[in-house]
Amino acid sequence: MAIKRPARRQKVVDTKSKNNDTEVFEQTLRPKSIKEYIGQSKIKEHMLVYMQAAKQRKEPLGHTILHGPPGLGKTTLAHIVASEMNSQIRLTTGPAIEKPGDLASILTNLQSGDVLFIDEIHRLRPAIEEVLYSAMEDFVLDIMIGKGPSARSMRIDVKPFTLVGATTKVGSVSAPLRDRFVHNFKLSFYNHIEMTSIVNRSANILNLSIEESAAHMIGCSSRSTPRIANRILRSVRDFAQMNKEENICESRARDTLKSLDIDGKGLDATDREILSTIIEKFAGGPVGLSTLAAATAEEEQTLEDVYEPYLLQLGFLKRTTQGREVTPLAYAHMGLEVPGGVVQEAML
Ligand code: ADP
Repeated sequence: MAIKRPARRQKVVDTKSKNNDTEVFEQTLRPKSIKEYIGQSKIKEHMLVYMQAAKQRKEPLGHTILHGPPGLGKTTLAHIVASEMNSQIRLTTGPAIEKPGDLASILTNLQSGDVLFIDEIHRLRPAIEEVLYSAMEDFVLDIMIGKGPSARSMRIDVKPFTLVGATTKVGSVSAPLRDRFVHNFKLSFYNHIEMTSIVNRSANILNLSIEESAAHMIGCSSRSTPRIANRILRSVRDFAQMNKEENICESRARDTLKSLDIDGKGLDATDREILSTIIEKFAGGPVGLSTLAAATAEEEQTLEDVYEPYLLQLGFLKRTTQGREVTPLAYAHMGLEVPGGVVQEAML
């Protein structure tokens, strides 16, 4: 049976596709130092110690892996490491490194102390990982030159560097690669106070005047994710501007959120469709990821990396061995009757 695909929705959540304008916007708002970086206090505290200790020893920071959902500040932290260590950053992604030669060219061009940032490190090909191991451990590259009987191995020195790997799926990073990272940090979702500070900070950089209650409302409706807060703030700014308002007030924030179809918990139309699909088509679950992806016309990876973490965090979704299940809290949020009236108990 053909599955009816719903019409495409406007996306405020992170789906990796960034145009140039968005890149520039993000760069403008990106905190440049650890002092400017809001929240994640334990990570900052540990990073500062490790960076200062490495600086005293005149060594690069140990290789660091950062993991957590998109938009929480992994790339930003990598930039901060480079700037705090007074070094340059080179950015790439796992899928962009296609051949061992690509990696060799990146590594041999690094200067002493440079930061190599590999986003989506879980998507590195095994052949590339093999080459990376010796570079990470001994700062040497063992690569094969030529093919067949005349092939020979060549060893090239690499200047000491820091690899910062970022991933939304730490479980998919191979164990040998994971073991070669000295520091491992898990970024968590931001609380409402931190989110409000992030909105106020961004408004300040963009020279916007914003009411505290409006900043709070945007912060609380942004899936606990700074990148989304910044995107919503950008939309609110545009609506305010077109309405000739000099100050962003709470009602402008509320109206914009409404027009973006974002509800009080920060869920957008796709989140709600995921929940209602599980409730209405699969009796609340469990339902397998691939079936859910087909029924919601989303990619499995997008569901897993982008939508599910926040729904899990809110306690609206459960992952079981049989698949995804909604919880009584999700029924309540969707204004639907809970089978057996479990919600009252769950909410007590
Ligand atoms: P990730 O690499 O985890 O997908 P980014 O580092 O690209 O996320 O962060 C996205 C945007 O969110 C940045 O441009 C920055 O403006 C903002 N941001 C992220 N973390 C913070 C933070 N801790 N404090 C303030 N702004 C942040």
